[in-house]
Amino acid sequence: MLQNPAKGQGGTTVLDKPVTKTMLDVPVAQRMPREIAPGVFWIGDCLAQRHKGKVYHGYNAAFLVAGDEASILVETGHPKDFPVIERHMNELFARGIAPLKYLFVTHQETPHCGGLGRVLKTHPDALLVGDVSDYHLAFPQYEHRMRWMKEGDEIDLGGRSFMAVEPVIRDLRTTYWGFDTKERVLFPGDGFAYSHYHEDGHCGLVAEEAVSLDLPDVSSTFADLALFWTKFADMNAYCDRLDHLIARLDVRVIAPTHGLPITDVKATVPKVQEGLKAAALMPETGTNEKAQAAAS
Ligand SMILES: [Zn+2]
Ligand SMILES: [Zn+2]
Repeated sequence: MLQNPAKGQGGTTVLDKPVTKTMLDVPVAQRMPREIAPGVFWIGDCLAQRHKGKVYHGYNAAFLVAGDEASILVETGHPKDFPVIERHMNELFARGIAPLKYLFVTHQETPHCGGLGRVLKTHPDALLVGDVSDYHLAFPQYEHRMRWMKEGDEIDLGGRSFMAVEPVIRDLRTTYWGFDTKERVLFPGDGFAYSHYHEDGHCGLVAEEAVSLDLPDVSSTFADLALFWTKFADMNAYCDRLDHLIARLDVRVIAPTHGLPITDVKATVPKVQEGLKAAALMPETGTNEKAQAAAS
């Protein structure tokens, strides 16, 4: 079954099997929502960004994790993506997945939580969970629906639970990573951030399917632009700690917000780490293309 999740299949509880082997044959526009592990759906859209004369495509993805009783949305996507995120979620709910009871965002930054108010408004039974610092200041009307999680806290979704875990490579101090205990899927927010090549048809593919993607290069570019502190830290220590977390949790799939999902942790994680280590050794280029042009 390679078709886009059919609309109008309401009432069925049968979900498509993951289609990791044959997704290359599916037109890009029909790849999402994509089930990257049983009950874990990748939703959202890409964002094109110009850098050094090239167009980089990046995701501001969200993921829906469906238990027997409840679903949790991880990240909300960029504000521009909300109509797509909502459409994808509605397709999945029409296919019979459990109702949305929780929203977890990895940190307080627009590409991660920019749809937070709209998700809480559209799903009045959903609670916001995680590190909920400051959200009550933006959305005082939803303060009574915000619940703190600390590292190791778990939310039961029915047949699986969602855990807040150590954010080894983080953007903000308030960051938490998420973890699905059943399929052992790690949601690392900005931890595995890299763009992909639209021209090569990478949109909607997992990292291992995007064979022409130079992972060390796109990872180091993203770190350079988005994670400035990696320039001033020993990234060997962070990568070792990452290996430790992956081993401790027995992570099988990685679902980053900006990168393509990783389904072969052993083969792919070292390539991302190579990029992080390389970026740490280069001076920061900054994000202002005009300044670069003037200097050159
Ligand atoms: Zn981010
Ligand atoms: Zn794309």
